[in-house]
Amino acid sequence: MNPVAERFIRYAVVSTASDPDSSTSPSSSRQFDLLRILEEELSAFGMENVHLSSTGVLYARVPGGNSAETIGLIAHVDTSPESPGQGVDPQLHTDWDGLPIALKEGVVINPEECSDMLRYKGGTIITSDGTTLLGSDDKSGIAIIMETCKWLIANPDMPRPGVVVAFTPDEEVGRGVDNFDVDRFGADFAYTVDGGEVTEVSSETFNAWSANWKITGREVHPGSAAGSMVNAVRIAGELISLMRSEEMPENSSGREGFDYPLFVKGTTGSAEVKVILRDFTIEGMVERRRRMEAIRDCLASLFAGSQIELTMKEQYSNPGEILKKDRRLVDYALQGMRRAGIEVAEGSIRGGTDGSRLSFMGVPTANLPTGGELFHSRREWVAENGLEIAFEGLKNTLAIWGEAL
Ligand SMILES: [Zn+2]
Repeated sequence: MNPVAERFIRYAVVSTASDPDSSTSPSSSRQFDLLRILEEELSAFGMENVHLSSTGVLYARVPGGNSAETIGLIAHVDTSPESPGQGVDPQLHTDWDGLPIALKEGVVINPEECSDMLRYKGGTIITSDGTTLLGSDDKSGIAIIMETCKWLIANPDMPRPGVVVAFTPDEEVGRGVDNFDVDRFGADFAYTVDGGEVTEVSSETFNAWSANWKITGREVHPGSAAGSMVNAVRIAGELISLMRSEEMPENSSGREGFDYPLFVKGTTGSAEVKVILRDFTIEGMVERRRRMEAIRDCLASLFAGSQIELTMKEQYSNPGEILKKDRRLVDYALQGMRRAGIEVAEGSIRGGTDGSRLSFMGVPTANLPTGGELFHSRREWVAENGLEIAFEGLKNTLAIWGEAL
């Protein structure tokens, strides 16, 4: 087993799910279990300025390097609370024959659902036992960064930029950089190592807004409701039916955005509907928000006596325009992956990363692959060879920065 994969498996068994219902930082104290292991290992490697903050952000610096530019490497320690994350038991599927992999509880990983799995036919695929997620998102990224630090320290003569690292908590609950200290980090540019298939370097994310609806109706005994009941349940239903089905996630892909009603609850007296809006362009997002306002106005005129409150909030923004200003960040990463023998393309993440917010905090950040797929599910997998390719790609990227400085 290659050292990155061995390291990944060691981290994968440490339970680190974040908790969307907690207001503490980090959201779950178990994230410290892995952060403390990493803190100790970074110090043992000989990293400088190793610092674990009380809110669960771990920083360190690789000694040496050309300080004309400092490149940051970031991964998150938490795993998604959407799938069970306690008691991860990594399974090795060696000499994989390219056929679906059956795990416990009827969980099946079908290569046809994955864009890049067959690349690893004949190699080793790592999965959970089917009862939990695997946590490749993002312990693969952590393992790749840790091995990169170790390798840089063992090879001090390689031309390279300054290199700093940070491991963040709570990325999966959207709070990964809430307590991030950009000055302590000290990077001019950064890469999150939090992507999927090795064929993609991502240079943009969605623009993201939430649209939360509060509907107030009027409760009356149904037997004597004629002319006076205003039913918030009906209004919520009408709201969703006024949304465009062709704009929903199940009908959107590539660079298309979506309007996604993801939560509804209610009674006659009051109802709540949560919608998220996603679009790669600013103009597209303006249009999506305009459509929400048009629906609100339409509902208000359809249901006299109701109260309809729509609150829209920005969640994160697409850093694509920022990354276009200095192409080195993305171009060097593409070259680095190509040097590792991969036909790589620039892609768009249909979601957000810590990098979207960091880019707006002054550290332009692109996203590198890890080699895993089907994140946030019990079918999550990563290939031993995929980890190795992603590791080679990252080392090459730093070498290209070093050669250019
Ligand atoms: Zn992730």
